Order: sequence, then structure tokens, then C-alpha cells
Amino acid sequence: MKNNKRKIKISIISIILIFIFGIAIYEATTYNKTYYISEKNIEIPIFLYHDIVEEKEQIVYDYMQTDKETFEKQIKGLLKLNYRVISYEELIKYKNGEIALPKRVCLIDFDDGYEGNYKVAYEIIKKYNIPVNIYIVNNCIGTTGYMNWEQLEQLDKSGLVTINTHSSNHNNFNTLNKNEAVQDVVNAHKQIEQKLGHTQIKVFTYPCGLYKEEIIDGLEKEEFIQNLTDNKINKSKTLDLSRLHRCYSLDDGIFKILLKVKYRSIRYN
Ligand SMILES: [Zn+2]
Repeated sequence: MKNNKRKIKISIISIILIFIFGIAIYEATTYNKTYYISEKNIEIPIFLYHDIVEEKEQIVYDYMQTDKETFEKQIKGLLKLNYRVISYEELIKYKNGEIALPKRVCLIDFDDGYEGNYKVAYEIIKKYNIPVNIYIVNNCIGTTGYMNWEQLEQLDKSGLVTINTHSSNHNNFNTLNKNEAVQDVVNAHKQIEQKLGHTQIKVFTYPCGLYKEEIIDGLEKEEFIQNLTDNKINKSKTLDLSRLHRCYSLDDGIFKILLKVKYRSIRYN
């Protein structure tokens, strides 16, 4: 009887070990393989940050600020695990079936246009040579705590940072009608193009993640990619460029970030 129990225990442990070993081999041999959108349902998280501050002690709003050391660890961790940070241009091409992507892929966004993006985060963005996207509140540019146009121009010239609008005044898009909302975004986008001196990919990010379906329709007609902030994960099969999901990284360690991605990917799909 005792012997039987022991045999069952050994069998179960062996099966679990073979399973883990199998996954490890599969991951090691396929992490670099690329897939077209029709070939594999991959997860495409968009990690959202706000302000990046020099020291942990400077954090006042932990849901809006990440310290430099934590931010660098997160980026380093993603790259070490062979994550590829892609741009929105690549995402569009992938959606259109023009390019393939590896299964470990992500995008990185910063909302609001805080000065810390230029003074602290930029150094890390250059160090790891990753494309990122910053969404500015146009009328805040040059005011206390936010970047000015000279800084934004420098970021733009680096070729690593894409500047887009987060509306003119961080408006509540729940209270605007369709025309007001679309006009606000179109004008704010035009202003960025004028200031930077070139056309810019159209990506819009809803302030506080608030939106109305009619506004989404209106901006879709104007060919804007649209970002929500709902802590969900994009997947190839349901990839909708008018309703992209984004999730917070905050001060999580890399494994907690990836666990949350997995959990949210299963929970919301
Ligand atoms: Zn915002």
C-alpha cells in the first residue's frame, strides 16, 4: 500500500517535471521565431508610465510616478528576457500582415508629458535604444512640471521618441460631444506637427481612459489609432487599433509585470 502511494507520487512528480522541461525547451527554441498576425495569437502588452522621478523619495503619487532605478530594472528585465520593444508603425504593419513579430513583444507609453520624461527617462531610453511614445497635454507644455517645446523637439530628433497628443487640456471625453472631441484631437495633433516640422503618425490617448463610442468612431474616420487605459492586454486575434489596451507597470518587478500580463490576458479574453 505504502509502495503504491510512493509510485503514484513519483509518477506525478515526473509528469510535472517533463511538462516544465517541455515548456522550457519550447520557449528556448521559439522565443526568437517571428509570426505573422494570422499565424499565432500573441500577447502585445502596452506598458504605460506617467512621470519618472530621480529618487524613490520623490514619489508622491505612486500610481503616477516611477523612480529611475525601478524603471531601468523593468526595461533591462524585459530586454534580458528577449522582449522586443516596438513602435506603433510596426504595430500597424503587423496588423496589416506586412511584417511578422516575435511572441515576446511590447510597446512603451508615457502619458501627460512630464518633465521627468526628458530629465530622467530619456537617459534610459537612449541607453537601451528603445522606441517609446509620449502623449502630451498641449496646453500644459512649458508650464511647471511639464516639458517645453525645445525638449520635445530634442526627443523627437532622437528618432526614439514619438510625440502625440493626449488632448489640448486633459479634457474629460465623457462630457464632450463627438465634434468637439474630434476637433480637439485633430487641432492638437496639427499643432504638434507644426511645432516639430514634420507629419506624425496619428495616435491618440484618452485622458483618464474616458471615452464614448461615437468619439471612437469619429477619430477612426480621421485615421487615429486610439489608446484606452484599462489594464487589459492586446492579443493578435482581437487586435483593434481603435481600442488598444494599456496596462500599468508602476513599481512592479519584472516577474510580477509578466505574471500580471498573463493573468490579465487570460482573465479578460
Ligand atoms: Zn493623463
